[in-house]
Amino acid sequence: MIDSHCHLADKAFAGDLAAVLLRAEEHGVHSAVTIADSLQEARRCMEIADEYEQVFCTVGVHPHNAKDWQPDDGKQLRMLALSSPKVRAVGEIGLDYHYDHSPRDTQRAVFREQLTLAAALSLPAVVHCREAIQDLKEILTAFPAVPFVIHCCTEVWEDVAPLVEQGAYLGFTAIATYPKSEDIRRTIRECPMDRVLIETDAPYLAPAPHRGGRNEPAYVREVAKLIAEVKSLSLAEVDAITTKNTIAFYRL
Ligand SMILES: [Zn+2]
Ligand SMILES: [Zn+2]
Repeated sequence: MIDSHCHLADKAFAGDLAAVLLRAEEHGVHSAVTIADSLQEARRCMEIADEYEQVFCTVGVHPHNAKDWQPDDGKQLRMLALSSPKVRAVGEIGLDYHYDHSPRDTQRAVFREQLTLAAALSLPAVVHCREAIQDLKEILTAFPAVPFVIHCCTEVWEDVAPLVEQGAYLGFTAIATYPKSEDIRRTIRECPMDRVLIETDAPYLAPAPHRGGRNEPAYVREVAKLIAEVKSLSLAEVDAITTKNTIAFYRL
């Protein structure tokens, strides 16, 4: 089993990352992809991936941080991506109109610039979307050569179905296990299994009974269990298929 999206560079893991990764291993989670949300965090993700053989990483600037984008940042990201074989995607990038931490036109420009980078580097993109699906779709259609995952997918199926038909992956977190998430469970039900990734988005979004506390890669099992239940598959089947999907997407 692989945690396809977590933030191991977050300060929540500064004190005990080795123990966290050992616990993941003990729970059958043999690998993880640590995702960047800024240039600074990308550098830290790369250090972690250098230190731990089973960890891979991404480089990218989150839409929350788009307002801090400097003209030189695309070049910086490109240099980072080319400097380590552990960098497997550009991310996380996208649009967040829920928090609006950056002006929307800036978010769109920074998203486009990083998709251009992904295309130039032949890397897939890890895409964050919150209350912005129409603009997101419009931008992504201009980059048909960039494979992508909509991570932490909370979209209703009708909104993402055309993307999935064109080859997009959907990443699901423990949000799908929460009682109110019937729409997300319906999206899981409709999504073909060969397009499904599992992730924690740790340290955020811990599953019950850890809800409200720190999430960590070991808990990605809870997401796999939920998907098994919704899809009427065994946990072993979900493990096998999502592992295969994650390896294919990130070329691990
Ligand atoms: Zn995100
Ligand atoms: Zn994330």
